[in-house]
Parts: sequence; structure tokens; C-alpha cells
Amino acid sequence: EVKRKGKNDYFVYEETLLQQKLPNLILLSDLHKSIQNNELSVVYQPIIDVQTKKVEAMETLVRWYHPVHGHVSPGQFISLAEETGFIVTMGEWVLRQACEQHAVWRKMGFSVRMAVNISVKELLDPHFAKRIEWILLEKQLSPNALELEITESMMIYHESVILTNLTRLKEMGVRLSIDDFGTGYSSLAYLKRLEVDTVKIDQSFIADCPHSYYGSVITNTIISLAHHLRMNVIAEGVETLEQLRYLEERGCQEAQGYLFSVPLRAEEATQLLRHGIRHLK
Ligand code: C2E
Ligand code: MG
Ligand code: MG
Ligand code: MG
Repeated sequence: EVKRKGKNDYFVYEETLLQQKLPNLILLSDLHKSIQNNELSVVYQPIIDVQTKKVEAMETLVRWYHPVHGHVSPGQFISLAEETGFIVTMGEWVLRQACEQHAVWRKMGFSVRMAVNISVKELLDPHFAKRIEWILLEKQLSPNALELEITESMMIYHESVILTNLTRLKEMGVRLSIDDFGTGYSSLAYLKRLEVDTVKIDQSFIADCPHSYYGSVITNTIISLAHHLRMNVIAEGVETLEQLRYLEERGCQEAQGYLFSVPLRAEEATQLLRHGIRHLK
């Protein structure tokens, strides 16, 4: 992103290339070595019940610590990984981490759903559902403890292989969640047909709540849609008590955001499961 416009457009273009494309190419070759170099990790962000404030689920988010550049955000490297197909290897690695952590928590007596983000690029693999099935078996995770989050703007149903995978996953008992809901083009018919379990209201609408008319109307509409279609609804990006009260009053079931907790390393997430969200009690 170029903040300051140069004297001519050509100059601005050169600057953009240098700031974005070149580092991307360097990152790209490094990304492929990130797993073997132990640079990838995962963090967990709690999803809480709006009424009881109990932790109902943990969302797994990938992190990349680059030896030279330090933390690189998923916003930067996920799309790169999608372009090269590395997302398939990375996605499987993240899922295994999540399953192993869930087993640790299960043994401690905590039962939470485990949410894992997946890319539509992964769903293009005809063997995706089968691979998930094997990982669940290997890690002894019950399919209904796993909730796969798919970003709505990426949901395209033109490829029949995507539908086949999603149908198969649902038959296995895996839960489906539509991420960033309200920013894409989900057809309501497909929400029903795929038996989507959860919709996550995009954080841009929650950020506008309750003061902007637009954000509030969209939030209310999604909550009401979810209720009518008997889907679970999660508000993403909840940062203030005022937003939480607003969601409570409208019967939004679950919420996630910095008000409750930032994404945490496994040990800190365990502490949170042990003690609950203390500052809201
Ligand atoms: P997402 O799945 O919608 O995750 C929510 C993002 O919002 C996360 O950013 C989270 O750290 C951030 N967030 C949580 N609470 C708040 C809040 O109260 N306020 C604000 N402003 N932000 C909040 P993160 O971790 O940088 O991830 C960005 C996106 O990258 C994710 O959006 C997801 O689409 C993608 N992503 C992350 N991990 C994975 C992964 O393992 N696989 C795939 N395919 N995508 C992933
Ligand atoms: Mg997500
Ligand atoms: Mg997302
Ligand atoms: Mg989101």
C-alpha cells in the first residue's frame, strides 16, 4: 500500500512492486520450508456462550514466525499459500495440531468444539473429505467436535467437487461454519441444503454496532436468519461491553473477540479453560 502519492504514476507503480511483489516472491520460497524449519505454530481463540460466558469452542489460527522478517500475518501468507497449493500441506498440518490439542484438553476433562479454518482451494481436492476422515480416525477425534470454517466470499459452488466434499463431510458428522458471513454470496438454498451448522457474522458489522444503522441492521438480520434456519450464530470481533450487551439482547448465541480474549498459545488457552473468562463474571 502506498500512502504518499508520487509525482507520477510510474513511480508509484515501481514503489508498489518493490513493497509488495518482491517480498512476496521471497516469502513464497521461504513459506514452503516453514514446516520443516519449525516456523509455523497455532494459537487458539475462545468462542463463548453469550448468556453463560462459558467457553464453547476454540478457533485454531495459524502463525508464521519468519527467521528474518519476524511475524508474518496470515493475511499476507494464506493467499500466497493458496496460489501455490502449499495450503493443502499447511491445512493438514494445522488440522493435526488442532486434533492433538483437543485430545490433550479432552484428557483434562474439557469439552469444546474445535474450529479450524479451511481454504476453498483445499476443497478442490477430490480426496479432501477422505483425508479429513483419516486424520480424525488417527487422532481419535469425534467428527462432531470438529467445525470447519469456510470464508463466505470464497464459497463458489460451481465446482461440483466442492459440493461433493462438503456433503461427504456432513455425512461423516463434521460441522460446517460459514466465516465472514455477510461479505460474500451464500445462497440461502445452499445454507439449507448443506445443513450449515454455524454462521459467523463478519467483524466489520460488529465493529459498526450498535452506533451505525447499517452494521446494526445487518447484524440483527443475520441473527434472525440463523434463528429461523436453526443455525448457530457467532459474532466475530467483539471488542466492547456495549457490543456484548447488544448481542445478548438480540439473542446471539455465541461471540468471539478481544473483549474475551486474544488468540492464545496452548498453555494460556488451557489456563483460560480452567478459570473461565474471569473479567466478565
Ligand atoms: P478469520 O478466520 O475470520 O479469523 C478472525 C481474525 O480476526 C483473526 O486474525 C483474529 O486474530 C482476528 N480477531 C479476533 N478477534 C478480534 C477482535 O476483537 N478485533 C479484531 N480487529 N480482530 C480480531 P488472523 O489470525 O490474523 O487471521 C486472519 C485470517 O486468516 C482468518 O480470518 C482466516 O481467514 C485466515 N486464517 C488464519 N489461520 C488459518 C488457517 O489455519 N487456515 C486457513 N485456511 N486460513 C487461516
Ligand atoms: Mg475463522
Ligand atoms: Mg476467514
Ligand atoms: Mg472472520
